[in-house]
Amino acid sequence: MLGVPRTLGRHSTGERADQHLTAREALAFRAANRRTMRATTGVMAITATVCAALFGAGTVLLFPRAAPILVVAAIQIMVAVSAFVLSRGRRRLPPLPIAFTLALSAAATVLSMVVFVPDTRFVSLLLLAMFPPTMVLFLPWSVRVQALWLLAAAALLAIATGLLSAALPAPEWIGVWVASATSGLVSLVGGVLASRLRRGVFALHMQARRANAMTVAREAELRRLNGELARASRTDPLTGLGNRLRMDAELTAAAARSTRYGNDCTIVMFDLDRFKDYNDALGHVAGDAALQSVAAAMAGSVRALDIVCRFGGEEFVVLMPEQSLEGGARGAERIRRAVEALQLHHPTPNGPQVLTISAGIALLGRGQANDEDGILRAADAALYRAKRAGRNRIAGAPFSAAGKVDDEQLRVGAVR
Ligand code: GH3
Ligand code: MG
Ligand code: MG
Repeated sequence: MLGVPRTLGRHSTGERADQHLTAREALAFRAANRRTMRATTGVMAITATVCAALFGAGTVLLFPRAAPILVVAAIQIMVAVSAFVLSRGRRRLPPLPIAFTLALSAAATVLSMVVFVPDTRFVSLLLLAMFPPTMVLFLPWSVRVQALWLLAAAALLAIATGLLSAALPAPEWIGVWVASATSGLVSLVGGVLASRLRRGVFALHMQARRANAMTVAREAELRRLNGELARASRTDPLTGLGNRLRMDAELTAAAARSTRYGNDCTIVMFDLDRFKDYNDALGHVAGDAALQSVAAAMAGSVRALDIVCRFGGEEFVVLMPEQSLEGGARGAERIRRAVEALQLHHPTPNGPQVLTISAGIALLGRGQANDEDGILRAADAALYRAKRAGRNRIAGAPFSAAGKVDDEQLRVGAVR
């Protein structure tokens, strides 16, 4: 009988409405939901009691012989309602058995009255007819369906009351009309109140859904921004290449692979030749543009797996995974040529030239020292040798005797 809408705490998808709320919001939501449900149940109980009392009083007034039956029914109803009140909060005792008991009690009362006090049959049948329209107000249906149902029930009730009362003598038909109209009105008021309360729960539910949707959207945005931030924190803003942070991470990973599996990885450190002069002659803005062109040329002349990073200033580092020193030297030479091919005009104090780069090569791999700082120092040392040897060239820095590579082999022109 007590049609508490128990589905309101859930989304239509089966998701809980309070799923994405913070713990505090979810607690507040559930508490408000419980309060409203309790209030709805209270209104329903009061409406049912008032309706029953009105019918009881009217029937006893018209047919005093029905009083004992109604007293028994009232006791039964009181027992069932107290059982419900006592069982509240205990999930093992759902309201269904109580509703069933109440319905059974009402049916038994009507039957007893019809059998033992035949005069009351019209009122009793009306009592039975009142049952469905009253109860439907407490079901979680839409307002429109409830209004339609009520209209139909009121029309039917009025017709039934009219037909029945026409066959009755004067005091009885008036009693039937009064009972029918009052209990109809009371159940309507109760139903509207319950319906409003249910709308309160629904509004709460929608609020929780909106909060959920917002939280989900914010989470997605946060994840996207985090991804962007992570990318930005590892990207050099001028050239779009990886920055020092990215290079450190890649180098650490490459060193770990070399130590664990003995994989080769060639490290090439590049430095623009006489770039200070370039800046001095053409200005910092032109210097920046040259850095961008060189970066693009470098990125465009490496293999897909190679990683090009701006190490700082006008220095770049290229990691070439799975490349021996010789293979890496060929790759470095390809890059050197690509930069030279840019033909960037470079007015040096010794006359006009084109912008070039020098490179120092070192190797991570089996039998090598494989520490990140060491490999960078080695590449830097090799770069220094390339500079000293006249720039626009590459030089190698083998670590161990086993992996020794003759510097001469790595000179421009010797490595093809
Ligand atoms: P070397 O051939 O020996 O490398 O001579 P160099 O003049 O290039 O010497 P060095 O490598 O020490 O010069 C670094 C110069 O690079 C200093 C500075 O003017 C320039 N530089 C470093 N970072 C930037 C930058 O972000 N933009 C510009 N335009 N210039 C930079
Ligand atoms: Mg430099
Ligand atoms: Mg330089």
